Amino acid sequence: MTVRLLPLDCPSCGSALRAEPLDIVFLCDHCGSGAILAEEGLSMLEATALLPTPGRRAELWRPAWVVEAHVVVTDRIRADRRPTPGWEGERVFVIPAFELPIAELTRLALALGRAFGATGEVPHEPVTGGVLDLEDALVLARHLVVGEEVRKPDMLASVKVVIEERSHRLAAIPFERGGDGLRCAVTGVTIPA
Ligand SMILES: [Zn+2]
Repeated sequence: MTVRLLPLDCPSCGSALRAEPLDIVFLCDHCGSGAILAEEGLSMLEATALLPTPGRRAELWRPAWVVEAHVVVTDRIRADRRPTPGWEGERVFVIPAFELPIAELTRLALALGRAFGATGEVPHEPVTGGVLDLEDALVLARHLVVGEEVRKPDMLASVKVVIEERSHRLAAIPFERGGDGLRCAVTGVTIPA
């Protein structure tokens, strides 16, 4: 086995990137660039930050993927075997890129997708813990849409969901420290710390 050591320097400005051991996506706290670690090394990504809603503070930041996608839902078959109309449309997904239990990740991603609005500059603060790559984020996005379809009241038996990615970037998400976890300063959703 060969171990390669890569310098984790920002591909844009050369500053050392802050990282935890398993991180594969990074936000530069110097110039605000995003980066992803692949076989060939680090490559740059567009990056932004979601802003806290009024009255909430950004005490710490965690990374997420913002994916613009065309969603196509077809082959909706109800439990009584009747086909029902599908739909398609554009949608913005905000998928947390840090480690969370799947139920919490789903809850936070749905809330962030609904709340997605004001964006600003990447903070000059650590945004670490990014372990989810884009491919996994797209799987999660599809999982969210399948879940929404299944929860509709028409007793769905099967459905086909295709997520066609249009663009992607990284985003810093603000959190407040709460008594029993971290509270998202955009959505108010609390997750385990
Ligand atoms: Zn930089």
